Amino acid sequence: MEYYSEKISRLISELGSLPGIGTKSAQRLAFHILDLPKEKVERLTGTILEAKAGVKYCSKCFCLTDRDICPICSNPNRDPKTVMVVETTRDMAAYERIGKYNGLYHVLNGVISPMLGIGPQDIKIRELILRLQQDEIEEVVIATNSSVEGEATAMYISKLIKPAGIKVSRIANGIPVGGDLEYIDEVTLLRALEGRIAL
Ligand code: ZN
Repeated sequence: MEYYSEKISRLISELGSLPGIGTKSAQRLAFHILDLPKEKVERLTGTILEAKAGVKYCSKCFCLTDRDICPICSNPNRDPKTVMVVETTRDMAAYERIGKYNGLYHVLNGVISPMLGIGPQDIKIRELILRLQQDEIEEVVIATNSSVEGEATAMYISKLIKPAGIKVSRIANGIPVGGDLEYIDEVTLLRALEGRIAL
């Protein structure tokens, strides 16, 4: 990209390092940003910085939120006896979009992956166990992705909590192997939830 000056090239390469943004899109975005009035650029960068500074983990379910307790955990109309375990806040949002699940969530913020050196202690499993000891939870629905890591994480969690006498279920297949929950259509997601099987 030597035909662009250094500052433009750097902007293109920063934008291009974002997920889903190829070189062409990065160039288009870069020139779009350069064409914007200064105030608009300041609003955009300000919003990014504010989000980064103000977003943290919900102290109950560990989703990303700007409150101490997220809106779902603090909603008195949700059923606190059922907890769905998901990998990411985006997966949680996918289930929220179908609007048919009324329990709470627990966001692991990752999966166990020996290949990447991620063990149980690196994701929010200890926090889940603690929650199960403190709150009156009757069912845990494990909704990790159907990747090898997602399945291994589901098995690990189920073995850990079953002795406590809590009902453990796994969302049904129908979700393609390796499928990313976030991109599955709502009907498939709903079917997976309704057809969940006891572990
Ligand atoms: Zn929460």
